[in-house]
Amino acid sequence: MAYNRRMRHALAAILLASSTVIPPATGAGPVATSLPMAAAQDAPPREQGPFREPDLVELRTLDPTIKLDIRYATPNNLAGRAVYTQARAFLQRPAAEAMLRAHRALAADGYGLLIFDGYRPWRVTKLFWDVTPPEKHEFVADPSKGSKHNRGCAVDLSMYDLKSGREVEMPSVYDEMSARAYPDYTGGTSEQRARRDLLRKRMEAEGFTVEPNEWWHFNYRDWPQYPVLDIPFEAIHSTGGPRTPR
Ligand SMILES: [Zn+2]
Repeated sequence: MAYNRRMRHALAAILLASSTVIPPATGAGPVATSLPMAAAQDAPPREQGPFREPDLVELRTLDPTIKLDIRYATPNNLAGRAVYTQARAFLQRPAAEAMLRAHRALAADGYGLLIFDGYRPWRVTKLFWDVTPPEKHEFVADPSKGSKHNRGCAVDLSMYDLKSGREVEMPSVYDEMSARAYPDYTGGTSEQRARRDLLRKRMEAEGFTVEPNEWWHFNYRDWPQYPVLDIPFEAIHSTGGPRTPR
């Protein structure tokens, strides 16, 4: 199913991208039919705008009580090695401000937000797809479409306890590829499920929706307005915190 969809997408990309130069296959090289597929997947998808101008805000500048645990800058992630050279997290400004409001609402419940990932360059999405076995592809974004993380409008997060400063227990750990990761999973303890549901409620109140198979992943409603980006963290010059305090 996914393969057919990818094939169709790749073929559509070739038909649209008439200016793409595909080197002719030689006798020693790969078969001609494999070349367009590789070409379509080695670059971000070509999209029709118009899009809003990217305005990536570095999340740690929003509020010093927002915690970061950028797993992809460590070997503790699904790739088994660091895929980010810097432990930083960004979101497009409206998403960042909405997340900040959720963080402040959670303080009344005794929790703060713990960020695992925000904006993700497209090439990292491609890497995750390549290292994930096909039977687990439901848990990673298809690089031929790009991820809402690539648009700076998705955030992976959990909560920490304000008193202890420690990450709370949820029904699964971050990036766990099992049914325990589903937001409607009915197992685990009632405390774990209550915390998961509270996080979802506070994020939904600010315009986010939870991913159907990942309790930690939230998409901001403005995502269709931003393009898939492949800007490395080093090249991002964040404009800082909220423009106007509210
Ligand atoms: Zn995610």
